[in-house]
This record gives sequence, C-alpha cells and structure tokens, in this order.
Amino acid sequence: MPIKSVDHCKFCNSSSFVEFQAKERMLGLGDEFTYQHCQDCGSIQLKTIPEDLSNYYPRDYYSFSLLVKSSPIKNLLKSARMRLFLLGIDFLSPVYGYWLKKLNPKFNHKIADLGCGNGQLIYELNAGGFTNLHGFDPYVEKDLALAENCFLWKKELSQTDEKFDIIMMHHSFEHMAEPLQVLKDCHVHLKRGGKLLIRTPVADSEVFEKEKDLWVQLDAPRHLVIPSLKGFEVIARKAGFRLNEVEFDSDAFQFLGTELYKKGYSLNPENLENYFSPGEKKDYQKKALQYNEKGLGDQVCFYLERED
Ligand SMILES: [Zn+2]
Repeated sequence: MPIKSVDHCKFCNSSSFVEFQAKERMLGLGDEFTYQHCQDCGSIQLKTIPEDLSNYYPRDYYSFSLLVKSSPIKNLLKSARMRLFLLGIDFLSPVYGYWLKKLNPKFNHKIADLGCGNGQLIYELNAGGFTNLHGFDPYVEKDLALAENCFLWKKELSQTDEKFDIIMMHHSFEHMAEPLQVLKDCHVHLKRGGKLLIRTPVADSEVFEKEKDLWVQLDAPRHLVIPSLKGFEVIARKAGFRLNEVEFDSDAFQFLGTELYKKGYSLNPENLENYFSPGEKKDYQKKALQYNEKGLGDQVCFYLERED
C-alpha cells in the first residue's frame, strides 16, 4: 500500500515531469517503480513511496554492518594523524579528508551525523580527536555510547533540542522523503553560522543522462529523491542556507555498478570485485576524476552555511 503520491517537484515545485520506470537492481529483486524527472530543475523523485521499504533494506545492508573498533594505540595514531592533517600536513590524510577540512572544524565542535548507520564515521572522528559527536539514525537498534563523547541516537534530528556547530549527511539525504523539511530541520538545529555538509548523488550526472534507469545511484526504490544542482539551490535558499561550494566527488563506482546492471547482474561486493580487471578499475577511476572536473560526476558535496 502506497502512503502517498506526489504531483509536484519537491525541489522547485514544478509539476512538469517525464516519468520513467526503474527496477530494484542492487539485490536483483526486479520490482518496478515509477520515477519523476522534473523538466524544470532536472531533479528526480520516486513518484509513490511504498509504505514499507524494509524489504529493500536487508539485514546486512552496509549501514548496519558491525562497527569496527580499533585499539587504543591505533586511536592515538589516528588522533596524531588528524592533528597533522588539519594543520595542513597531508602526507597521511584520512580518507574523509577532502570534505572534513573544508568544514574547518574545531576539535570541541558539536557535530551531528544524520542517517549515520552504525556510527563508524563518528567513531573514527572521535578516534581522530573530536570530542562532541552525535550520530542520529531512527533505524538503529537503540541509543548507544560508542565511546566517551561519541553517541548514537535512535531518533531523528527533529526529536532533539540540541544545537550543533556542524551537521552532516553522507549519502543519507537521498533516502529522506521531504528534502525541504530536512534542510529546515537542520537550520533549526544549527548554531548561528553553523555549517551543513550534504553528500548525495545528483541528477545532473552524465551517467544518468546516458543510461537513465540503469544508473547505479538511481538505486530504486531506496533513493526517494535525487536533486539537481539547480533544484538543490532552490530548497537551500528557502530553508535559509547559503550554498558556499559544490564539490564533485564521484568515483569509479558510477561506471562499475552501472556496467553490472547493464549486464543484468546485481550489486554484490563479489561482482564488483571480480567482474573488472585492476586496469579497468583504474581507468574508470581516472574517468571519474575527469567527470568531476567537468561537473559531470554523479555525486557531490554541498557545503552550506546557516544564514540568519
Ligand atoms: Zn524541479
């Protein structure tokens, strides 16, 4: 039973759509869904959101895999590495470095990660020396302290009264049904001048343009909305944010996953690992960097700041 069907673009409010069908391909279930492609701003949205999406999130979905904790000594090394990295000494940069640095964080900043899954990222940031970390995810089992000053909360951001210096979403925004409301909630829960980072697939991508429903990051039906840059700017402004920068950070996955779908395979780590030669993977990574330079990659980091 569907909960609702929308008749306007959730980004620019237009009702001019081209509809297309897309199959669930990650698990290989093959169920069909209708997506709407906005003809005004280019954003994409799932037309009718099923009431129960849990069948499409298997128990071993990556977000819920077990947290990998490291030893105290390794955590000391991570902390030393983070301090050097934020000072500009990049030779051992953490893998999440490129977006972290642009947020210009202080170690005592209060940081929220929305849709954080098992909380691995905030755990790593804690190991790196950050001291006020809060992961929110209504689908985790229960509230949990992952470490001192590092908490996993089984709730939505809107269910807390806390205010943060930084809020971030790493590929969770596209799983949320009401993008404007998400940004408004972030605005309410950011301190004055607070920063918001949203990492998400974007509908402007060349791979979507070429391959349509076979694009791996369409990810039917889990991705409920995929903004275009134009559509995202509209809701960012409406929610009271200044969009400081858009950074393309797509990688080889956009080609590898899409190629697998074209061949009729599902998306499991073994297929991703074995189907392509190391040379092919390297070439695809190179191609992704070229796409990013031209603004054609299939995902971005949106860097926003609360405007008062
Ligand atoms: Zn639109």
